[in-house]
Amino acid sequence: MSSQLAAMKPAPTRSPGAPPSADAPFALCRCAGCDREMKILPAWAGKMVRCPYCKQPTQAYRNCRVYERRPCAVEVACQPAAARTADEARWEATVCDISRGGVRLRLGRRFEKGAALAVELPGPAGEDPTVVFVRVARLTRAADGAWLLGCAFISELSEEEVRNILAAASAGA
Ligand SMILES: [Zn+2]
Repeated sequence: MSSQLAAMKPAPTRSPGAPPSADAPFALCRCAGCDREMKILPAWAGKMVRCPYCKQPTQAYRNCRVYERRPCAVEVACQPAAARTADEARWEATVCDISRGGVRLRLGRRFEKGAALAVELPGPAGEDPTVVFVRVARLTRAADGAWLLGCAFISELSEEEVRNILAAASAGA
């Protein structure tokens, strides 16, 4: 009987909405505290979980997506989204990495978590910068005193948009 059961072992099935890989039934999420990737079960979405790295509670947010981050060094200007017409409110910053989901900014001042910023990213050659809106998700202080702001795009970029920004940045360098 047992050998018959073993022979009847069903082929792997995949329910709708399941992660694409059958051997990876986890979604990836980023800890709001320490910014490290952690695995969550899809059923945990929206619930508070304890980060396995920093041990702090963090929300396993719905539709977790972790996009590849491209390291870069793009000089940009940023300012509070509410002060877009005031030139004096512009701050120079460096984009340290970019993904479809957001950017990491390095700058000399801090903006509070949750602040909405307008970031001028380099546009195509000869064209005006592209302004994207981000929200500060986390901030850390570098050893040299600079602030590192992890920012999420209000509207995610396409893969092509990320590539164009990186191409424009390297062309203008
Ligand atoms: Zn953590």
